[in-house]
Formats: sequence, structure tokens, C-alpha cells
Amino acid sequence: MENTLSELTALWGRVLNRIKAELADDPLVYDSFFKDSYIHSLDGKTINVVVNSSLAVQILRSQYEKTVLGALADCTETNFDVHFLSKDQISSSAAIKPAKPAYFSDSYINPNYTFDNFVVGESNREAYQASLMIAQNPGHLYNPVLIFGESGLGKTHLLHAIGNKVKSKYPAMKVLYIHAQEFLNEYVKFVSGDMAGISISDWFKNEVDFLLIDDVQFLANKERTEETFFTIYNDFYSRGKQVVLTCDQHPSKLNGLDERLKTRFVQGLPLCIAQPERETCEQILRMRIRANGLKESDFDPEVITFFANTFHKNVRELEGAFDRLLFFAVQMNGSNHVTLKIAQTAVSSLVDVKAATGTLSAEKVIDAVADYYGIPSYQLTGKIRTSQIALARHIAMYLIRSRLDAPFAKIGSLFGGRDHATVMNGVNKVENSLKTDKGLQKAVSDINKRLK
Ligand code: ADP
Ligand code: MG
Repeated sequence: MENTLSELTALWGRVLNRIKAELADDPLVYDSFFKDSYIHSLDGKTINVVVNSSLAVQILRSQYEKTVLGALADCTETNFDVHFLSKDQISSSAAIKPAKPAYFSDSYINPNYTFDNFVVGESNREAYQASLMIAQNPGHLYNPVLIFGESGLGKTHLLHAIGNKVKSKYPAMKVLYIHAQEFLNEYVKFVSGDMAGISISDWFKNEVDFLLIDDVQFLANKERTEETFFTIYNDFYSRGKQVVLTCDQHPSKLNGLDERLKTRFVQGLPLCIAQPERETCEQILRMRIRANGLKESDFDPEVITFFANTFHKNVRELEGAFDRLLFFAVQMNGSNHVTLKIAQTAVSSLVDVKAATGTLSAEKVIDAVADYYGIPSYQLTGKIRTSQIALARHIAMYLIRSRLDAPFAKIGSLFGGRDHATVMNGVNKVENSLKTDKGLQKAVSDINKRLK
């Protein structure tokens, strides 16, 4: 497995969960020393972990190294070493460099999203089949393939599944997965001359054979980027290189997208993913139970039906609610059999939130923004700083400020203890960009609509 920073970050989340469980008698230790920690980089087999003070470095080294190594070994089945360092050390240290330089470094293909763990039903069968065929015969069948549908229905999962399959079947093929927002960010770097005079079209021509581009609705209202994308797209198309796109709606309905792009996007094979059937939801849940090392018999059958019925509109929500149940059942309840009552209690606040329109909370805003950008809420409030996550984070801060009039410090505490000035900066950035940035205006207005 390639250890990209994002994978390591997800891994660290799992390690922290274990440590937290192990230190359950001593939650203060966890909160003071572990909670804010994050992986900075990987040097060979040594993971560099940043903690919040030099005292924390000393204490972790002398008292908790074994606990951390044990949790790491459990989660990875590999013997990693760990090196703790404080925030001050990283700003002054030249020794530790990020694994890769710029060029689309935030993009990677997530090995956890595969065809094997994608549950197929009527709602997604065509999209699944087309994706599988394209991965096996790149460039020869339909070009481009466009998968469209609402948020949380598996579009990104399929893109990564294609990427993984192509990488294993055609190792020499250069596959790039990129979120459209990331494409926009990189575009700015190329245009501002940061890429040593290489044009973005040339870069794509040379470095990419198979392009997976997620959430193309983000290209709307970005004229110059659309133009560049059009050039890249035409070049790909004429060379028979495969392009797969996703969009949150049929492109013809997308305001502010160049007509030529609209036409191109649907000229290959446009496929819709719909909301999953109850049966598909139930299968997804069963798969999740197995993936967590549990047995279906640990759950009353009504639990699965209850989840499939309550959260069937969005698989991300379904999974989030179910993860909450697992956490609740294991951590709080300690029981090894999950009854319907436990399940209902575990998600009662989610169900209430869904039912209670009118009352807006900061959590609701965070969930809505995370959902809009297709990232988990914990990443939004966490430490990762890819440009896409940073933008989403700033938007969430801005919305909490403007809709709930929350104090900056309070907002900071919702976002992993960021300080007043950081939040104010984020909010100001969004306020300023909103004056001119049509794409941002649309994003904010869409999210606001979802919050009504
Ligand atoms: P989208 O990109 O359409 O917003 P994602 O691909 O991010 O949705 O899916 C959200 C979550 O739901 C992911 O964790 C994904 O693995 C899961 N998911 C969606 N559809 C399925 C499916 N058919 N089988 C298994 N998991 C699914
Ligand atoms: Mg997505």
C-alpha cells in the first residue's frame, strides 16, 4: 500500500480510537496528550507524530510509547516506529519534508474503495457495470463516462474503484484521480508560474493516461479554468485516453457551465446513480458489520431494517449513523448484542435532528458542508490541510458565524481548538471571496438551501 498522507491520517484516527479505548480509565491523559496529535510524515518505517507541546513529547516518549506502538501494530500489522515531535519543532525542522512535492500531491487513489466492497443494486447497477468495463478496457468503449447523482450515493467510491482496478491491471498506466476543486487550485499554481513554465495542458498530456475527475459541478462559473479543462479534455479524447467524470446532477441542469463542456460531458455514456433500495442498504450494513469483525447474529434483525429504513437516502449518512451505533454499543453499552432499543438510542439525536427542521446547530452546519464537499465531518473539524478541506472548513466557519452568530472562540473550539484569530481569518477570507467568486457564491447558497 502506498502510504500517502491522507491514508496515514485515516490510519492515525484508528490508532487514536484504540488508544482512547485503552486509556478509558484515564480520559484526561488521552485528552491532554493524544487528542490533538496528528501524523506529520513518514520516513521509511518511522512515523513522525506531532503533539501539542514539548512536555507532551517527553511524557509520550517515556510513558506511552509502548501503548502507541502496540496500537499501531494492531491497526497495521506492520512494525512501525514512532517519533514524537512538538509543533515548534516542525516549524524549525528542515529534516522532515512532506513525502511528495506539489503536482497534485493531494490527489491519491484510496485503496479502501474497490469494486469488491461496492454493493450493487438496481439504483447503481449501470454505473457499476460501466465503471468495471471501463477499468478493464480503458479508452475503448465509452468516452467520457459520466456518473451523476446526489451526494452520498457512491460516485467517489466508484471513481477510486476504477483507479484501483486500472492500477492493478495496467501498472504502467498513469492514473490520476482529482477532485474538480483541486484541479482549480492546481490551475492557479500553473498560471501563476509556480510550475517552472510548464503549461497545465502539457503536464496532463505527459503525466496522465487515465483521468478520474470528481464533482465537475465545481468547474461551473470558472471561465478560464473551463477553457483549460476543455483543451485538456479534447486532447485526451483525441488520443483515446479515458476520462471518467462525476457530477452532482445532470450537466444540462448545471448553471454557469460552458455549453461546450455540457455537451462533451454527456457525449459518451452518462449514467445516473439513484438512492439505494432498502435491500442495498441492508447489504451495505451487513458488509460493514463483517468489516468491523462482528457477526450479523450480534444484531437483532430489526436493527438492520431500522437503519435501512431511516437512513436510505444517503449511504454516507447510513454509514455514519451505523458507525455511531457501533461506537455506542461497544464503548458505552459494553454489551455484545445490539437490540433495536440500543440502536434507536444510539442514533436518537440524528433522527431528532432530521425530524426537527427549524433548529439549526453548528453540528448541522458542519455536517451539511462536509456532505456537500463529500468529506467526512471529522476531517472538516480535524487537522488535515489540503486546500479542498481548508476551503470547506472556512465555509463552515463562515456559515456558523453568519447563521448562528457564534463567537469566534466558540467556533474555534468546534474545530479542534483553533484560536480566535485563525477562525476570524477564515471567515474574512470567505466574506471577501464571496464578493467576486461566483463558484463560492453558488456553493454557499446551495449549502444554505440544504440548511433550511
Ligand atoms: P458520493 O461521491 O456520491 O457523494 P461516496 O462515493 O463518497 O458518495 O459514498 C459515500 C459513502 O458511502 C462512502 O463511504 C462509500 O464507500 C459508501 N457507499 C456508497 N455507495 C455504496 C455501495 N453501493 N456499496 C458500498 N458502499 C457504498
Ligand atoms: Mg463524492
